[in-house]
Amino acid sequence: MTNVAVIVAAGRGERMGLPEKVLLPVAGTPVIVHSLRAALASPAISAAVIVAGAHTREPIDLLVQQEMQDKPIRIVLGGARRQDSVLAGIRAACDLGATIVAVHDGARPLVRPALFDATIEAARERGGAIVAVPVTDSLKRVEDGAVAASISRDQLWAAQTPQTFEVRRLLDAFAEAERRNLDVTDESGLFEALGWPVGIVQGDPENLKLTRASDIPILEALIQARNAGSVIH
Ligand code: C5P
Repeated sequence: MTNVAVIVAAGRGERMGLPEKVLLPVAGTPVIVHSLRAALASPAISAAVIVAGAHTREPIDLLVQQEMQDKPIRIVLGGARRQDSVLAGIRAACDLGATIVAVHDGARPLVRPALFDATIEAARERGGAIVAVPVTDSLKRVEDGAVAASISRDQLWAAQTPQTFEVRRLLDAFAEAERRNLDVTDESGLFEALGWPVGIVQGDPENLKLTRASDIPILEALIQARNAGSVIH
C-alpha cells in the first residue's frame, strides 16, 4: 500500500481577490507549507504531490526545496476547475506508485496529521472516506432575499479535506464524470453521483479553509495557540 497526499493549490483565490493566497505567511510560515508538513507528518503518507497554478509554481518550487523532508514531493500544474487540478495530482500520484490518494486543500493549513491516517484507514474499508463536521448553525433556504424555509441540520455535515480514495476507483469516477459531463465541487461528489459509498471521519472545526481575508487572524491565533502547547477545542 502506498498512500500519497495530493495537495491542491492551483486555485486563484477569487473570493479573497488574492491569487497567491496559499503563499501567504500565517504565523510566519506560508499556508501551503503548513499543509504540506501536516500531510507528511502522517505516518501513513509516503509521498506528496502539490498541484500548483502557473502563477504559484515557481515560488512553491522554492519553498519545497527549502523543506527538509525524507519523503518524495512532486509539483505539477493544475487546471481551471478544482477537479482538473485533482486529476493532474492523481496522475502524478500514480507515477509515485499510489494505491490510495488523500486529496487535501492546500488552503487548509491546520489539518491534523491524524486525519490523513484516519481517512486512509476508512478508505481501505469502503473505497472512499472524507473528513466532515456536523453543521452547527441554523440553516435557511432563501428566496428573493427572504427566508423561504428552515432546513433541519440533524443529518447535515460540512465536508472538509482530506478526501481519500482508492486510486483506481477515483480514476474510474473521473472517467465516468467526463462521460456524463459532471461538474462537482469535491471528489466525494463524484462517488456520490455514481452511487458509491463514501465514509465519514469526524473532523475538527479548526481545519478551516482560508477563504476570506478575515480568516487570516483566526488561523494565526489557532497556530500560535498550538505552538504554545495549548489545546483549543
Ligand atoms: O475554491 P476552493 O476554495 O473550493 O478551493 C479549494 C482548494 O482547491 C484550494 O486549495 C485551491 O487552491 C484548490 N483549487 C485548485 N485548482 C482549481 C481550483 C481550486 O487546485 N482550479
